Amino acid sequence: MAVDLRRQYGEVQTPEKEKGSEIHKDRFLEILEEIVVEIKTPADKLHSNVHNMNVELDLYQKEGLTRELPILSKFRNALIKGIIDEIKVVEEVEGLKTHKRTQIIEMKTRKSQNPPSSQQIIKDKMQGMIYWYVLNAMINGKTEMGDFWSAYGVDLIEPDFNEIILSEEYMESLQIPENEQKEVGTLLGIGTLITEVIQKFKELPELSKTIEIIYINQKTLTEVHREKYRFDERFFTRGMEWALEYWSGKRSPTSVGEANNWKCNFCGYYTLCPAIHKKWKQGD
Ligand code: SF4
Repeated sequence: MAVDLRRQYGEVQTPEKEKGSEIHKDRFLEILEEIVVEIKTPADKLHSNVHNMNVELDLYQKEGLTRELPILSKFRNALIKGIIDEIKVVEEVEGLKTHKRTQIIEMKTRKSQNPPSSQQIIKDKMQGMIYWYVLNAMINGKTEMGDFWSAYGVDLIEPDFNEIILSEEYMESLQIPENEQKEVGTLLGIGTLITEVIQKFKELPELSKTIEIIYINQKTLTEVHREKYRFDERFFTRGMEWALEYWSGKRSPTSVGEANNWKCNFCGYYTLCPAIHKKWKQGD
């Protein structure tokens, strides 16, 4: 239901969400510089994401760690975009051999000093598995050039490969020199960058099946809980099929069940939510 309301009314900020975003941004700034760009067209958005992938994969190659990495792939016919909090190189011992692998780490911030509830952990584990699935698909070369154009809504009907499709504002804000804009800003230029990035994902070390979620307190920034778990194909597929029923229009959004009623108290859509309105009416 919250997803559906977000689609209708846009993102609703809460103090907890704002604080969480701030902490994530600080962690990003620890390792990379931020350049604020002006997004005017779908192509600008596509380019900025592919550019971020490129810069962050270069850093990963050098340092064995990167943060806020955009990812993109398909589950069945549905395109999935996401941003992974952190990936890092780990060494895993199997028998007598040590393997260098890539591990996904998600960081959740909490207002409370207490560990999260089991229901919250299940939801977060599912998110980690979605990222695992998507990144694994990218490492295995399953994300194609066409997925990028579709995911960002860049029109390819009667394409002119040499026409500049990035906005001037965007190129200026990204500090692309004028003499390079003709090369970088065309469909051909963006396609070349996408090809490079697809290749860089394929060169990442194999993905570790272990995913980590670290919960930290928003005030003290100390760790309050840590979950280490493995990608579970059956759990993931069941969850995705359930979600896709909604995304493909086969079912309406559902409100949280009894066990998750507590979520409504922290939900930014509380006053807009039809499930809450129904409860109010029943209470009248
Ligand atoms: S108020 Fe409760 S049921 Fe409604 S969207 Fe928020 S969490 Fe879901």
